[in-house]
Amino acid sequence: MTEQNSIWVFIEQTDGKIADVSLELTGKARELADQLGYEVVGLVMGRDVGPLAQQVIERGADRVLLADDPELADYRTLPYARVAIAEARARKPEIFLIGGTPNGRDLAPRVASALRCGLTADCTDLQIGEYTIRKENKTYPNLLYQIRPAFGGNLIATIVNPKTRPQMATVREGVMRLPAARPDRKGTIEKIVPAFEPGDFALEVLSRQVRHSTVQLKEAPVVVSGGAGVGSAEDFALLRDLANLLGGEVGASRAAVDAGMIGREHQVGQTGTTVRPRLYIAAGISGAIQHRAGMDESSKIIAINTDPNAPMFQIAHYKIVGDVAEVLPLIIKTLRERSMDQREQE
Ligand SMILES: Cc1cc2nc3c(=O)[nH]c(=O)nc-3n(C[C@H](O)[C@H](O)[C@H](O)COP(=O)(O)OP(=O)(O)OC[C@H]3O[C@@H](n4cnc5c(N)ncnc54)[C@H](O)[C@@H]3O)c2cc1C
Repeated sequence: MTEQNSIWVFIEQTDGKIADVSLELTGKARELADQLGYEVVGLVMGRDVGPLAQQVIERGADRVLLADDPELADYRTLPYARVAIAEARARKPEIFLIGGTPNGRDLAPRVASALRCGLTADCTDLQIGEYTIRKENKTYPNLLYQIRPAFGGNLIATIVNPKTRPQMATVREGVMRLPAARPDRKGTIEKIVPAFEPGDFALEVLSRQVRHSTVQLKEAPVVVSGGAGVGSAEDFALLRDLANLLGGEVGASRAAVDAGMIGREHQVGQTGTTVRPRLYIAAGISGAIQHRAGMDESSKIIAINTDPNAPMFQIAHYKIVGDVAEVLPLIIKTLRERSMDQREQE
């Protein structure tokens, strides 16, 4: 197998913990590579990151390129880009995938512009297919279909890059499934020695402050989300009560966030968090495509809306046409009564 026939994934890590999105992409890369007969290569960069290589192999990589260097301890654009560009130039991957995290969004365009290959940001799906350029009367097979919402979410666009390599895309966290670890998987680990240049260290990290969000939307088994129809910040208290009763988190639409009803860390959707809970309750949310992109894979969806034609009802499993201010207190009351009954029986 030649170097060209590979799908690369940038393995982002912080303090020795791999970002979920990198493992999700490794799983997706495995799926695509199996279709094409390519190999999956994980590009790991950092300091003391050797132990991460096996984790990447367990999620689907055949090979890991390992750049372990003190200068890569903290993410910095120039040293990281130096390694990624040099390796990609030398080894010529067909496809290069990067997580759509703040660091990934910083690294990907720099690499793409250096390699002059184009980049599709924030893909929601990746597939393999062909494309015919009619003017040339030529069909290009085995292309990466880079699929993402476009024109404000009114269209789902499939973008292809027939001529330049690698085909580069970023994908948001939580969009692809996290593959299960397979400890029996074997792969090769190749150490690479970065050839930095003095200008790469123009930026020095003086200190780091880690802010831990208390909002755990991605992991929550139940998400109770409110939209503009909830009415006000005070009215969100109802959603908090219900989320607490169900052991879940409070989510929100962008309209609710923009109106200052709740913090941005609660936003679900294309520009917020992607969730896949067992139960998603959409209260007073119309169901715009940008919101649905972040929750339509929930196992069960309950929609509450005064408008019987709200688009959210198209994907809801249970539909309640009514005012959130009336429906939510009823659900909360019923749940509280039930839990009291249960306690009395015990
Ligand atoms: C590039 C881009 C990215 C975007 N990213 C996101 C994103 O990540 N997440 C996101 O959510 N949006 C996103 N949006 C915005 C999105 O297009 C919608 O504008 C937004 O989702 C609408 O929020 P909403 O449904 O709460 O508000 P509205 O569209 O105003 O809908 C409110 C709904 O509440 C119902 N309602 C009103 N009163 C009540 C009541 N008392 N009881 C019950 N129902 C009631 C109404 O019938 C209506 O259906 C994005 C837009 C763009 C262009």
